[in-house]
Amino acid sequence: MNSLGYSPNAKLDKTILEKYLRLPQPEDKIQATYIWIDGTGEHVRAKDRTITFLPKTSKDYPIWNYDGSSTYQAEGSNSDTFLHPVAVYKDPFRPVGNNVLVLCDTYKYNKEPTATNHRRTCLEAVERAADAKPWFGIEQEYTFLDSDLRPFGWPANGFPGPQGPYYCGVGADKVYAREIVEAHYKACLYAGIDIAGTNAEVMPAQWEFQVGPGEGIKCADDLWVARYILHRIAEEYGVIVTFDPKPMTGNWNGSGAHCNFSTLAMREENGIIEIEKAIDKLSKQHLRHIQAYDPKGGKDNVRRLTGHHETSSIHDFSAGKFHIHFNFILTFLRTFKVDYVGVGIAGVANRGASIRIPRGVAEDKKGYLEDRRPASNCDPYSVCNALIRTCILDE
Ligand code: ADP
Ligand code: MN
Ligand code: MN
Ligand code: MN
Ligand code: MN
Repeated sequence: MNSLGYSPNAKLDKTILEKYLRLPQPEDKIQATYIWIDGTGEHVRAKDRTITFLPKTSKDYPIWNYDGSSTYQAEGSNSDTFLHPVAVYKDPFRPVGNNVLVLCDTYKYNKEPTATNHRRTCLEAVERAADAKPWFGIEQEYTFLDSDLRPFGWPANGFPGPQGPYYCGVGADKVYAREIVEAHYKACLYAGIDIAGTNAEVMPAQWEFQVGPGEGIKCADDLWVARYILHRIAEEYGVIVTFDPKPMTGNWNGSGAHCNFSTLAMREENGIIEIEKAIDKLSKQHLRHIQAYDPKGGKDNVRRLTGHHETSSIHDFSAGKFHIHFNFILTFLRTFKVDYVGVGIAGVANRGASIRIPRGVAEDKKGYLEDRRPASNCDPYSVCNALIRTCILDE
């Protein structure tokens, strides 16, 4: 906890800023917030500049740079790191004027992509798979924390009642900080993000929003900007957003980023056959996917999938013997009779499975599959990239 016991941001009067936000802006100038993923692969950074012309597409925005040694992306001796604009959104925080959020990917001094620039590879896969018309829809779960890093609204010296009444809950004793969720939903729509919906989640102070379905890379771009907007709005309230996949140990749900995936063939008549083919391919590439589904190469998902029961295996896993611990997960899942993959036995409507075929999809015999493995802090570029390479490109 900080020495105040609360975020200083929460105590500032937000109505004062509105006077200045309403000021007319010179027509030949726009404010641009450049946003990028830092060296953790899960946190975003941003800085602002004035643009003195009116760009038409993301490619018209100037390449910019920053000090990569302060974002875990470069050594101090050679720290200039480059921001390449890739997608542009309306800025919901500066509504007067043509102000924008500019999502960027990052390149080292030698023009090589940084270690956490997974967009470039994803875009290459998306372009090669274009004929299959892949769509993605991602369900982003997350948790609000108070400045003591406990879930927002939880008693300081105790716990809320057990899980049950909170999922899609309504009422002051069921959900906390709905106003941030509401502000975020509106702000995302304004920005141009394909936000599909929101709901309160199973653990109190845990929420979800969905983006998509969108073709190609748009869904992943949207998700990163939606995360940025959520952090910004929560910052105003003095509330912290965590995308950690297991913020509370014990009998509390973790957070995922279920990735709903389809190709044109899956969406057409009898597409269920294509869906089952994809599940079969996924069953043979389990390790690749687990490694791609959180920013720590599977370590965060071990925490989420095994909880406190498998604490010792987390240590061994950190030492890099991934396959051993992967088997550990399998054993764990089998012990609890979880069909994590498997054609036939399938995960129709099974929320305990790794791949779920939604009930409606099974009935229509076409649609999409839901990969439930990605952790809430995953990089959606890595997730989409792995799905395309396994299911479409047969790599
Ligand atoms: P759940 O029942 O798992 O909670 P949600 O309603 O939260 O499901 O999310 C379903 C997601 O599936 C939405 O984000 C939506 O965009 C996505 N979706 C719907 N149809 C398709 C499709 N054909 N291909 C890919 N994604 C899809
Ligand atoms: Mn400086
Ligand atoms: Mn959902
Ligand atoms: Mn959910
Ligand atoms: Mn889901």
